[in-house]
Amino acid sequence: MTNVDTCVIGAGFAGLTAALRLKRAGQKVALLEARDRVGGRTFTVDGPNGCWIDRGGAWIGPGQTAIYGLMQEFGVPSYKQYVDGKAMMVVDGKQYRYEGTIPLTMSPWAAANMGAVFLELGRLAKSIPLEEPWEARNAEKLDQTTLSGWLHNHTLSKPAHALLEAALAGCHTSAASEVSMLFVLYQMASGGGPGFLLGVKDAAQDSRPVGGMGAIYRPMAAELGESLRLNTPVREIIQDGQGITVRGEQVSVRARHVVVAVPIAIASQIRYEPMLPMDRSFLHQRMPSGAIVKINIVYDEPFWREDGLTGQSFSPDSPATLTIDASTDQARPGVMCVITEGPAARKLTMMGETQRRQAVLSEVVDRFGAKGAGPIDYLEQDWSVERYSGGGMLSHAPPGVLTEFGHALREPCGRIHWAGTESSAEMCGWVDGAIRSGERAAAAVLSRSADPDRIDATLDELR
Ligand SMILES: Cc1cc2nc3c(=O)[nH]c(=O)nc-3n(C[C@H](O)[C@H](O)[C@H](O)COP(=O)(O)OP(=O)(O)OC[C@H]3O[C@@H](n4cnc5c(N)ncnc54)[C@H](O)[C@@H]3O)c2cc1C
Repeated sequence: MTNVDTCVIGAGFAGLTAALRLKRAGQKVALLEARDRVGGRTFTVDGPNGCWIDRGGAWIGPGQTAIYGLMQEFGVPSYKQYVDGKAMMVVDGKQYRYEGTIPLTMSPWAAANMGAVFLELGRLAKSIPLEEPWEARNAEKLDQTTLSGWLHNHTLSKPAHALLEAALAGCHTSAASEVSMLFVLYQMASGGGPGFLLGVKDAAQDSRPVGGMGAIYRPMAAELGESLRLNTPVREIIQDGQGITVRGEQVSVRARHVVVAVPIAIASQIRYEPMLPMDRSFLHQRMPSGAIVKINIVYDEPFWREDGLTGQSFSPDSPATLTIDASTDQARPGVMCVITEGPAARKLTMMGETQRRQAVLSEVVDRFGAKGAGPIDYLEQDWSVERYSGGGMLSHAPPGVLTEFGHALREPCGRIHWAGTESSAEMCGWVDGAIRSGERAAAAVLSRSADPDRIDATLDELR
């Protein structure tokens, strides 16, 4: 049995941050990670010709001060996403080139309708109180409405509807019929609005860390040293009057506090003794993740740039729904990233490997030309089959969940504190939100360590 002050479960950005902050504050910490690597839903690997590839979370943007702060701590610079050219929208097989966030070159009616919906989304998102979205005006009505239902009532143009539905539902990697409109607005608001969520320049896809996310998580793991234990899935957490025991197959840790930093969609894979309070327990049963496939295709050079294209394209329901230039800060090689989400991703993963690759490359050729057929490397990552992610990019709340159970998202349960991007009121769903949640959980542990009576009070609620 290892004895520590705090045991942190899950070494994604949330858990790494919590463990690091507690260790630096002088605590004895154990960070238990199920996989043979850290990073969780971020995963940076070496690619050909000296490049690096982010197989999970990759982009950062303005306002994400938590991740920029961490990058500064570890001396990781950022570089700007390539945007010198036109993006592309594909509707009914027809390609439209455009600049900015809204494809104004599509029919003026569709573009106007999209613009109006964007304005309305921005207005509604502004009205959501981030710490308590269930207290928003019309919260109940919005939470009873799905994204799909809301769009049916607000989009009059068919192409505008198809594009908005695919783009917004894509952010939740699920069908629009699965996600609560209140949750859509809350997550959007937590990043600053629809422009931030869907935009590139000055928005969520504005920049990337040089060296990828791994350039940040590797030094964090190194500083944690022997406090970090890989290949250690946690199976149960047992609280008693004196402390808390965390158990896996080959591990037993005794601690005063625990931070659970695993994705909420799979938090119920851990057995809690005594059982968690009802609303937290039910929340674990009600926040699923969706399907996302991220494919990085490496070429000798980013050939699309010569044709005045940014590499960004969007084609609802296609096997390659979204493409974006994912090259490093160097001129060569070129990396084209294909992201397919929700129902289209589920369809894609049902194809055989060869058929899938052909389908994806053929889409790239259609949009960017024959050079797309000749990559030097092709790396697929299907997050829906990752046991310790349970899907990606983030867990969402279906209708009714946020208003009924949202209050349990961050409330500690006795000695258990909750971290993970889903528990962050700001930048919920992004790496930045994960870091914020780790900072919050660490601060809560430190403040409770100084006031043990508060633990006893919350433990009483569990008995
Ligand atoms: C394809 C994809 C693209 C994305 N793109 C972006 C992007 O461009 N920008 C951005 O900001 N965000 C992006 N995201 C989202 C971002 O990656 C996540 O928000 C963030 O990484 C979540 O961090 P976390 O620490 O909360 O959870 P995770 O990273 O999921 O970490 C949880 C950790 O817990 C471990 N674990 C699970 N169960 C157990 C257990 N029982 N015992 C021990 N350990 C366990 C897991 O192995 C994992 O390491 C993307 C995600 C995906 C999948």
